[in-house]
Order: sequence, then C-alpha cells, then structure tokens
Amino acid sequence: MQTQILENMESNVRTYSRSFPVVFTTAKNARLTDEDGREYIDFLAGAGTLNYGHNNPEIKKALLDYLAEDNIIHGLDFWTAAKRDYIEALEEIILKPRGLDYKVQFPGPTGTNAVEAAIRLARNAKGRHNIVTFTNGFHGVTMGALATTGNRKFREATGGVPTVGASFLPYDGYLGDGTDTLDYFEKLLGDNSSGLDIPAGVIVETVQGEGGINACSTEWLQRLAQICRDHDILLIIDDIQAGCGRTGKFFSFEHAGVVPDIVTNSKSLSGLGLPFSQVLMRRELDVWKPGQYNGTFRGFAMAFTTAAAAIRTYWKDDAFEREVQRKGDVISKHFASIASWISEQGIEASERGRGMMRGIDVGTGEVADKITQRAFENGLVIETSGHDGEVVKCLCPLTISDEDLAKALDILETSTKEALADIV
Ligand code: PLP
Repeated sequence: MQTQILENMESNVRTYSRSFPVVFTTAKNARLTDEDGREYIDFLAGAGTLNYGHNNPEIKKALLDYLAEDNIIHGLDFWTAAKRDYIEALEEIILKPRGLDYKVQFPGPTGTNAVEAAIRLARNAKGRHNIVTFTNGFHGVTMGALATTGNRKFREATGGVPTVGASFLPYDGYLGDGTDTLDYFEKLLGDNSSGLDIPAGVIVETVQGEGGINACSTEWLQRLAQICRDHDILLIIDDIQAGCGRTGKFFSFEHAGVVPDIVTNSKSLSGLGLPFSQVLMRRELDVWKPGQYNGTFRGFAMAFTTAAAAIRTYWKDDAFEREVQRKGDVISKHFASIASWISEQGIEASERGRGMMRGIDVGTGEVADKITQRAFENGLVIETSGHDGEVVKCLCPLTISDEDLAKALDILETSTKEALADIV
C-alpha cells in the first residue's frame, strides 16, 4: 500500500490516519475497504457523519439525478429549488410534527461554523457577551466555538491567544458524588458577587460525544431549560453529533421534551457525508441584519438535495426511530457485558450512552487505545473519546445490518480480551 507521499506531504496535524494507517478506497453502508481489498466494519462512521451509512443508495440516487440534470451546484445564498425543497422537507417532516416553529440559517458548512453563528446570534439577541458551557463539552475549534470547548489540547493550540467569552460549569455527573450540578449554576445566578456574568446563552450537548459519551439525564436537561427560562437565558442545544437520529430521535432533546431556543446541526444532516450545517432559531431571535454573518459556502445545493432525500427516506414515520432504539439496546447489552468482563479482570469499566451513541469507559486512554488498535487489526474501525481518550466509542451507521452489528460486537469483545491479555 502506497502511503509514502501521504506521510511526507500531509501536515503533522492529521489524526485518524495515525490510528488507521491504511488507504481506504470504497465503502458501503457499514463496510470500508482498503486498497489491498481488506474489509473493515465502520464503528466510527465519520465521527457521526454517516448515520445513514456510506453511499446510501436512496440518498446517493437523489444526488446523481440532481447532477445529471445540470441543476445549480453553487449559488452563494441564492434561493434555489434545491434549498426550497430541503426547507419544505425540514418544515413538513421534521419541525411541524414536533411542534417546533424555527427559522433556519445556513452558515458555513461545518459544525464549528454553526456553533460560531449560534453563539453570536445569542449574544446579539440578548445584548450580553457571556456563554455558559460545560466541562468536557466539545463545540468546535474556531476561536468563538473553541472558547466553549473544554479540551486543553485544542485550547492550547491557539498559540497562547486567550479564548474569551465563555464560562465553564460542571456537566451532569461531573462531580461524581450525586450532586445536582445545576444547584451550583442557580447559586451563581442568584449571587451578585458570584463573578458569573449573566450569560446570553447556555450551550450544551445532551450526550457529550467527544467528551466521553456522557449523557445528561432528562431531569437535568429539563431543569437546565427551566433555569434558562427563569433567567432570560437562551438554551442552545448543540446537536451536531447527537442529532439526526443518533440517540433514537431526530433531535436528541426530544427525549426530555424540552424546546431549545437555538439548535445546531451538521455531521449527518446532509445524509451522505457532504459538508452541511444549519442553525435553527426561535422566530423572534432572528435579529441578524442582512449579510451580517456570511460565507461563500452557505447552504450547498448538493447537500440540500441529499439532506431532503435523507429526511424523506427515514423520517416520514417512526419506523427508523424504533430501529435505532432496538439496535441501541443490542449495543448497550453487549457493551455492558464487555464492561463487566473488564471489571472482573481488575480494571473498572462501565457502559454508557443513549440510542446508538454508546461507549465503554475503560478508565484510561492507554487501555482504550490497546483495545481499539487490536480491534483495527481484527477488522473493526473504532475510536476513543473522553478527556484522556478513555472511552471506546460506538458511532456505527444507524443503518448497519444486524449481521454486521453482531460481527462487529464479537470483534470488539475478542479484541478486548486479546488486548487485556497483554496488560493484566
Ligand atoms: N459540536 C459537536 C457536538 C461536535 O461533536 C463537533 C465535532 O465533532 C463540532 C461541534 C464541530 O464540528 P466540525 O468538526 O464539523 O467543525
């Protein structure tokens, strides 16, 4: 396999190719193939970007048809038929049935673009600068979004330029002693001498993806929403990784029945892995002046087309949701049994997550890396997350077949046993 030019030329900043140092060529649903024809099951799936699998046939057909007809591909933020068709699908199939009355903004195509836009919108709408964010939160790496991201590795990469405009509070369970961490938030808000600038908004993931598959409880999220309402603070749910069905509902906050003021989506939104993001906002929060937030790639016609096809294919009824719940239960049970086996070997481990966003906390990054390396050798692409990379994380396509799911879980179990045989 020819990797020399890649190693020589690509910046040191590359990451995933270090864990998976092969050249991938083709992919279908949950299977990846490398240049030597070796197949892998994909439990990474573009870090949650391929919820509908690689090269999903229905979604890809919509794109091929679109391209075949010389439809517009780039149109800045022109009105296009593709944009109208996407907004119709979003409104009719996703928003209206959930009683959500949002306007939509298309910022640049990545998640961090959506977060930048969302927090700036909150600041403009409320005339306050501060954004409350949570420990282990990950919201992107451009300066504004980075200020709300916890991980030191990313924060230190600014070359010493301080990240400003955000205050960190403990996420649900962070203190590990059963304390409701929102007591602290309420106390700070009610104390004129607490040092907390009253925030314009709170940004939160309902399941922290990069932070280690930490799922906040529905009660915690409901209380956070109530605190925001009581103090005139905007609730921004960053659904970039947990959204688009990953937790078993289109929006991850549906489980708690809360209605955020602002929502960010990206990753699986386009359905085919094309770059695409959106910010949903309560109608009265749309305080933007024309062109005040711009970008050359705002709303990408190919992504509008595939995103509309994804919504029409998977979200017209609740069959897909039920499938995700069912497969999520299968993963959860298997992860729990792997975790209890690991604990029996003297390394404390636990299973966690919601829907098909699941992980096994094995305590340290060293153990997790040994497991994922062995899994790769055995034909499973799977990554880690958490502050020390201590959580082995499953983000497989939601469309994975039962056979591939069972096979992947077997590989993970075998790989865990092999990896631990080298350690304990
Ligand atoms: N927000 C969340 C919750 C994420 O998981 C990510 C990426 O992992 C981002 C924002 C940033 O998205 P992007 O990498 O597309 O900038």
